[in-house]
Amino acid sequence: MKKEAAFWLSFKEEMLAAASGLGIDKLGVTSAEPFLELKERLVRHREAGFESGFEEPDLELRTKPALLMPEVRSILSIAVAYPSKLKGAPVSEPGKRRGILSRSAWGEDYHQALRRRMEKLTEWILLRVPDAKVLSMVDTGALSDRAVAERAGIGWSGKNCSILTPEWGSWIYLGEMITNLPIQPDKPLMDSCGDCTICIDACPTGALVGPGQLNAQKCISFVTQTKGLVEDEMMVKIGNRLYGCDTCQIVCPINRKIDSRHHVELLPDPEVAKPLLRPLLFMGNREFREKFGEGSAAWRGRKPIQRNALIALGNFRDKESVPDVAKVMREDSRPVLRATAAWALGRIGSSEAIEALRTALSSESDTDVTRAIERALTNP
Ligand code: SF4
Ligand code: SF4
Repeated sequence: MKKEAAFWLSFKEEMLAAASGLGIDKLGVTSAEPFLELKERLVRHREAGFESGFEEPDLELRTKPALLMPEVRSILSIAVAYPSKLKGAPVSEPGKRRGILSRSAWGEDYHQALRRRMEKLTEWILLRVPDAKVLSMVDTGALSDRAVAERAGIGWSGKNCSILTPEWGSWIYLGEMITNLPIQPDKPLMDSCGDCTICIDACPTGALVGPGQLNAQKCISFVTQTKGLVEDEMMVKIGNRLYGCDTCQIVCPINRKIDSRHHVELLPDPEVAKPLLRPLLFMGNREFREKFGEGSAAWRGRKPIQRNALIALGNFRDKESVPDVAKVMREDSRPVLRATAAWALGRIGSSEAIEALRTALSSESDTDVTRAIERALTNP
């Protein structure tokens, strides 16, 4: 490993030049220093109750790269751009209403897409430095993808909590590779949000509680991935989102007109990205895997997506779906789905929906579901 500084300078230059051939759109480097400012922010975040519960709980691990690799000398941040527009989007019409998956769940699961690229980059590194150590992570790793990317000069941290790149906006997947290589770090970019607050103003739930401050408990993106009952007010705000929420990215002026379509495996199948809602209600596990298994929306299983499909049908007030929604309320073995179906029928509010609620009330034995039916009957 003992090599002159000049070696590492040309190594970095060659690596940057090789990146696009490996399917990486942007590569930045940061030091192995701990993320001290991030740690303070995470402590405040935790104290305020803003965590989602999906994060790595150990704040030391999240902010100290040396705990993950004692000989760490640098961290590579990689970004891969993904599409933001759905070409040939199918039309949502009465009786054939459709939901929507967030853009980060379109196409191949980004964890796999990034891992493949990071493996290729690791091979590239090992060919040149056989005793290199590389530890790759994406999303579920201990480090914060965004904090690494910000410090490595990939983009600035926007008020919507996304990393915004001048080239690809925030429509990027991020991963990082911890290494024992003394590569020269890059400089962070200047924050270019300026006075803009469009994302904060557009958030339907007020989850952006300040610039770059997210209360995950109020964020639709997080709530669509939970498995339990959702509060009535939140269900209305969810609209027809089946997985995730893109509102604070769609409205961002930096993102406007950016639609990166150069990675074919990340292009969406319109029938998966914007699926018909009613068939989702009766989808078995195998069917679910066939339809969604390739993408990142599958990680929580079919239940959240089916619950969200019921919410969407309620929000569409789709009268034609009443027989299907009522069937879920009567026959589904999962109380969360039966209770959500009751809410949806109350929101649709047609005479057929009310009749179905009244009938179900006499046979339902679960107290949560009974309560949901009674609420749906009193506040249609
Ligand atoms: Fe708000 Fe949606 Fe952005 Fe969450 S993802 S902060 S709910 S706009
Ligand atoms: Fe920054 Fe405005 Fe984009 Fe929000 S909408 S991230 S404030 S540029």
